[in-house]
Amino acid sequence: MEKREQLYEGKAKKVYRTSEPGFFWLEYKDDATAFNGAKKAEITGKGALNNQISAIFLSLLKQKGIENHFVKTVSDTEQIVREVTIVPLEVVTRNIAAGSLAKRLGWEEGTPLSKPIVEWYYKNDELGDPILNDDHVAVLNIAVREELNHIKEISLRVNDVLKEYLAGRKVILVDFKLEFGKTPEGQLILADEISPDTCRFWDANTMEKLDKDRFRRDLGNVEEAYREILRRLGGQENV
Ligand code: UDP
Repeated sequence: MEKREQLYEGKAKKVYRTSEPGFFWLEYKDDATAFNGAKKAEITGKGALNNQISAIFLSLLKQKGIENHFVKTVSDTEQIVREVTIVPLEVVTRNIAAGSLAKRLGWEEGTPLSKPIVEWYYKNDELGDPILNDDHVAVLNIAVREELNHIKEISLRVNDVLKEYLAGRKVILVDFKLEFGKTPEGQLILADEISPDTCRFWDANTMEKLDKDRFRRDLGNVEEAYREILRRLGGQENV
């Protein structure tokens, strides 16, 4: 399979066409952004770390029967994925109150939730990704009821798999964001990435943050934290 022309450039990845229909070529960048692009930096090595971390998580989910777009890794920073049209929703699942939820509820960050919460946000930079309810999603024609139910069910299954897997590696899964896409055949599958850019990971012993909050909150050692996650997942650390 060969890499062809670039189709799209996002904040953290570039998407290319390939010589084979039905497949895209993803390139993970070192660029870091937060607060809807207001804060920017380059973190050397981040693209390679997220490429490998995301491949590990998406392969694990596939093994557990959760269909997703990941096909194979082709270089330090690149992977082949199935072609999908992304559904413009950021689907956030939470186990512990943090970030915007802690703020919205007026709860202290770190307060456990009695059951996981799944939320939808409209993937729209101009609007700053506002939170949506089911009716908003329907009126915006983003997804029908059955699709939303499916997205929620898959998100909760991903949560169960990742929470258990990470607990065995002394990492607490606080919350994470997923994206879904439709294949050319119309199948709705998990897509995008699962990495320290899109999840909150806390060290189970020290509660140290091992994710993008280190960048958002200027805590330092961003690359080291991402590398530590890869190490706990048993990935190759020479990236
Ligand atoms: N998240 C993400 N992309 C976004 C917004 C959030 O990947 O555009 C992830 C974030 O890393 C965290 C979870 O979704 O794991 C919940 O984020 P939250 O709503 O608390 O927003 P934040 O505090 O990051 O603004």
